[in-house]
Parts: sequence; structure tokens; C-alpha cells
Amino acid sequence: MSPLSKIFRIFAAFLIFLILSSCTENNSQGNYGLVIHGGAGSIDKETMPEEMALKYKNKLAEAVNHGYKMLENGAAAVDVVVEVINILEDSPLFNAGRGAVFTSEGTNELDASIMNGADLNAGAVGGVRHIKNPISLAREVMVNSDHVFLTGAGAEKFASEQGFEFVDSSYFYTERSWNSYLKVKAEAENKTEKKYGTVGCCVLDKSGNLAAGTSTGGMTYKKFGRIGDSPVIGAGTYANNKTCAVSCTGHGEYYIRSVFAYDISAMMEYSGKSVNEAVDIEINRKLSSMGGSGGVIAIDSHGNIASDFNTPGMFRAYRRNGESAVVKLFSGE
Ligand code: ASP
Repeated sequence: MSPLSKIFRIFAAFLIFLILSSCTENNSQGNYGLVIHGGAGSIDKETMPEEMALKYKNKLAEAVNHGYKMLENGAAAVDVVVEVINILEDSPLFNAGRGAVFTSEGTNELDASIMNGADLNAGAVGGVRHIKNPISLAREVMVNSDHVFLTGAGAEKFASEQGFEFVDSSYFYTERSWNSYLKVKAEAENKTEKKYGTVGCCVLDKSGNLAAGTSTGGMTYKKFGRIGDSPVIGAGTYANNKTCAVSCTGHGEYYIRSVFAYDISAMMEYSGKSVNEAVDIEINRKLSSMGGSGGVIAIDSHGNIASDFNTPGMFRAYRRNGESAVVKLFSGE
């Protein structure tokens, strides 16, 4: 072999090496995906009628596939969170938006929050009564106000200034939520029903940005303007590009007291835990030992997805790049 062709061969091999290594790097950087939940609680395979389970599965699949299509087309994580949660809020199946549960006074007070992991910006609303899609208002607070958290009448005044769609309170009437209200009302000593249906979404987009959002009607028969964890950044929702995006569902008081969502991110940032390890510790050690119940979903900056709950079930679905959607309802699935 002539020295010239030897040099040429070495050069060609080097070029191929460069191309291959840049492909591997792009693949790992280009991961994307999302994970969603539709609440945790007494979701039992034995007692849930099959056609009801199918309705939940179909709606979760619709939402997760919609988000996935957006991600494929290069949408930003925050936009995906909002559109996916809008789909779940518009469905009467979940305790968010249309299907929100009733307060002790027979009204509906909705909470939602969103966080952008790229700049740690966040927006939240609590106790709104006439907003069709509270997650969209939470995004508006994040993007178009100097604040993070607006509540009640003030939040609705802000919404009207931003040209938001208002709905009559009758929009939130569903037979299911009303019956659940009547049931809890009758059980005077047990004021809060352990049945949840909050919705949440955590996204990693193609640019490596993370975002999380959560939307809820709160807990049936809640009183005194009670607000749970869902609109509280760090408790029910958290996102940080350095670590992960998290959305929670469950008995909110425990999630607030344990600063649940942020704790998962902090374990990853400061103790080098994986998203799975951090979720496991938070649910199975911390929440359970405090006596709390519920679940959580999370996605990390590499696209690893984690979810766990200490209730009989949690509505959940996820989809990662190149994979098909996975939808699950019960424990042990
Ligand atoms: N975490 C919500 C709250 O406490 C309820 C739920 O997730 O079902 O308001």
C-alpha cells in the first residue's frame, strides 16, 4: 500500500468515527417524550366496569398521542403540557376542568400550575370558579404577569383582562361529581373522599427542555377556601432542566408538607439519585410514613420516565420517541 493511500485510509476511518460519534450524541440529546396522569385513588380492577376502564384508557391514549405528535413536530415542552392537560380538562372523566369535584358549598373551585424547567419560571391559579381551562390561565400568569400565584376573584379579573373564556358554573356539573359530593356530605364525619382524579403532564421536548403541569378540582367537600398541592410550585408541580419534571396527585396536604415535587428534583441534583430512585423514596418512604396517599409521575432530562403510587391505582400513560403509547390504570400493571 502506498503511503498516500495509507494516509487516505486513516483519514477515511477518522471521518467515519466522527460521523458515528456525532450520531450517537445527537440521539441521546434528541430524546423526547411525555408522561401523564389522570389521578390516583381507589381505582380497582375488580370494581371498575370494563366499559368505564375503556373510556379512561381511550382518553389517556388520545391525550398522550396528541402530546407525542406535537413533540415529533418540534413543539416546546410548555405548549405540550398545556394542550395535553386541556384535553383532560375538557373531559368529564377527570377531576379537573369540566369534571371538577364540588366544595362543601356545592360550588367548584379549580386549581392549576405549570413550570418551565428551562428558566424555572412558573404560573399558578387557585380557587377559580369560571375558567374552562385553568392550566391555560396558569400559563398566562407565568408568561404575562409579574407574579407566580393568583387566587379567586383576583385571578379571574386577570383572566378577563387577558380575554379568557369564562363559563357558567353549571358547566362543571357532572352527575358523577355531584353524586360523590352528596355521598361525602352524607358521611358527615368523613369530610374528604379518598377518590382523586387530578390530571398532570410532564414533558421532555426535542431541545432538551422539561416542563410540568397539574390541574384539579381539589378534594370533594373541601371547605374554607382550601387549596391543595396542585397549584403549589414545589409541592404538586416542579420542573428543572438540570433534573426532571414532576406532577403529583393525591392527598394534597401531605404533598405540601413534604414539598414533594421539589424533593424529587433535589434528591437528583444534590445526591445524584436517578429519577426512579427519587420517586421510589418519595412515595414509599416519605409519603407512606407520613400517612399520606397518592401518586406521582416524572420524566428526567434524558427521557427516563418514572411513576409510582401507594393507592390501589393511578390513571397514567406515557410515550417516548420511537416507542408506542403505554396506558395503565391499576397497580401491578
Ligand atoms: N392533590 C389534589 C388536592 O389535594 C387532589 C388530587 O390529586 O386528587 O387538591
